[in-house]
Amino acid sequence: MREFDVIVVGAGFSGLYLLYRLRKLGLSARALERADDVGGTWWWNRYPGARCDVESMQYSYSFSEELQQDWEWSELFSAQPEILDYARHVADRFDLRRDIQFDTTVSSAHWDDDERRWRLETEAGEVFSARHCIMATGCLSTARVPDFEGVDSYQGPTYHTGWWPHEGVDFSGKTVGIIGTGSSAIQAIPVIAEEAGHLTVFQRTPNYSIPSRNGPMTDDYARSWKDGYAESRQAARHTRNGVLARLNPQSAMAAGEAERQAIYEERWREGGTYFMASFGDLATNQASNDTAAEFVREQIRTTVEDPETAELLAADGYPIGTKRICVDTDYFETFNRENVTLVDVSEQPIERITSEGLRTGGRDYTFDAIVFATGFDAMTGTLDAIDIRGHEGRALKAKWEEGPRTYLGLMSEGFPNLYMITGPGSPSVLSNMMVSIEQHVDWVTDAFAHLEANGLETMEPSLEAEDAWVAHNSEVGNTTLYPKAASWYMGANIPGKPRIFLPYIGGVGAYRERCDEIAAKGYEGFELGGGEAEQRKAS
Ligand code: FAD
Ligand code: NAP
Repeated sequence: MREFDVIVVGAGFSGLYLLYRLRKLGLSARALERADDVGGTWWWNRYPGARCDVESMQYSYSFSEELQQDWEWSELFSAQPEILDYARHVADRFDLRRDIQFDTTVSSAHWDDDERRWRLETEAGEVFSARHCIMATGCLSTARVPDFEGVDSYQGPTYHTGWWPHEGVDFSGKTVGIIGTGSSAIQAIPVIAEEAGHLTVFQRTPNYSIPSRNGPMTDDYARSWKDGYAESRQAARHTRNGVLARLNPQSAMAAGEAERQAIYEERWREGGTYFMASFGDLATNQASNDTAAEFVREQIRTTVEDPETAELLAADGYPIGTKRICVDTDYFETFNRENVTLVDVSEQPIERITSEGLRTGGRDYTFDAIVFATGFDAMTGTLDAIDIRGHEGRALKAKWEEGPRTYLGLMSEGFPNLYMITGPGSPSVLSNMMVSIEQHVDWVTDAFAHLEANGLETMEPSLEAEDAWVAHNSEVGNTTLYPKAASWYMGANIPGKPRIFLPYIGGVGAYRERCDEIAAKGYEGFELGGGEAEQRKAS
């Protein structure tokens, strides 16, 4: 058994920054990572076209001035290989690898009430013991293939966007089927279409997507960010989504028709998720949202030449933005290619995977390869896969059967010294994740410093504080249009998963202020104990 002050599970952007901060605190730490290198999301998701949808000048760490000044991105929205290089650079630059054990999957984490320590076991049977356990396991790290009948009978190769082969895939001249039209598919489809002989896209729900207007990074543009980082990073931390997006606070309904159109057109030309900041009430006012949705549908109708295909691609039936808004390069244009076919499976679902392809609508399709762009068991799937047990052997999975319960998305009652980075109940996936990751890591490591300074060993939220946060989370979620969509934010992509709005939508800035206030009040809502302080009290 190897003993540490802290075990971190995962070596993506969360795990890397944790190691950096823990070392500064003088705590012994070890990160255990399933993959054979750092990078998390950007190690796993190597599908063609994978790139960030938050501009690289913002989707990057802010904790080191030297790092943010030195690193050079080659594109506005960098592609996966470059983001992975960046993660590797961070690991090397801060000499973090010596505290990471790769090719190591944590299978269980059990709290020992007597020792007041976590005991973690890996799939290979290694055992680690630590005072604190931090789950930096990611929100989108458990890729999922739906339970299609016959999925194992297919004779050709299958790929999931979230488990893409590292050596790449050659689709030249092949007939390929892709299932799904979420963010991953929307990025992959235009690139695969250029290579494949024929690409058939199986769409169950059309998505709203905004052109990224990606392009090469210019020196002037990079310089403008780098010169202003001191202010802009600080400002981003207090926005709604952790992104500087020029939010127009006006209601879309307050603008006249011509003004509204002009604003949408300008944002569309500008590209990216900034489109959703066109007006201040797109996430909360159905009438306002309808105007944005209709504008996007109109762009699709003018882009896609075949009116029937255009109508199938034009998302309807849920408010724009309530499923994660997609950002693309030539997605809708791709359906004008002769080698691309769209098949609507909304009414006639995929019946089964066959030995040669798949069957839907009573028709058999034959493929040389099938791509599953079918998403993830988001936010809870990766934690559920680990046998996590707190006080008296209580299982986290059992506690969360009706949906995750956390205080601030950071901890769960009954599980002392177990922390989640960007866990359910925190802004996480609704934000620029870099901002949320840094905020969580800073908060947790500051809490460790507080425990150390006060001779304390344990930290656990009270049930009362947790219940209040869960109620607040759902109350805020219900003031928005988000619950109207069958999205992975609601757990709706996994049969049987409770329908609960998983992230916290109160805003990155407001959330940060709440977390800071709680810390300033001596970690209000948390029970702190153990260590010398408890011994002193007892004697
Ligand atoms: P991850 O990167 O998911 O890392 C978690 C790590 O934990 C993984 O390496 C995994 O192998 C490891 N792990 C999990 N379970 C275990 C276990 N039991 N034992 C050992 N190791 C384990 N966010 C944005 O803000 N902007 C974007 O543009 C953006 N683009 C994205 C594109 C894609 C394709 C995807 C899937 C997500 C994207 N995200 C984006 C979200 C992205 O997940 C985060 O931005 C960020 O990379 C998460 O970092 P992380 O370290 O918290 O988690
Ligand atoms: P996703 O958004 O969950 O999309 C999965 C797709 O598969 C959906 O179109 C879904 O249809 C479809 N699908 C699932 N089961 C199906 C079935 N049985 N039959 C037919 N279709 C089925 O997953 P994702 O595209 O991987 O994206 C997940 C998240 O990762 C994103 O929302 C985003 O946060 C992040 N991401 C970001 C980027 C980026 O641009 N930087 C890129 C990729 C991913 P339904 O909608 O009908 O369920």
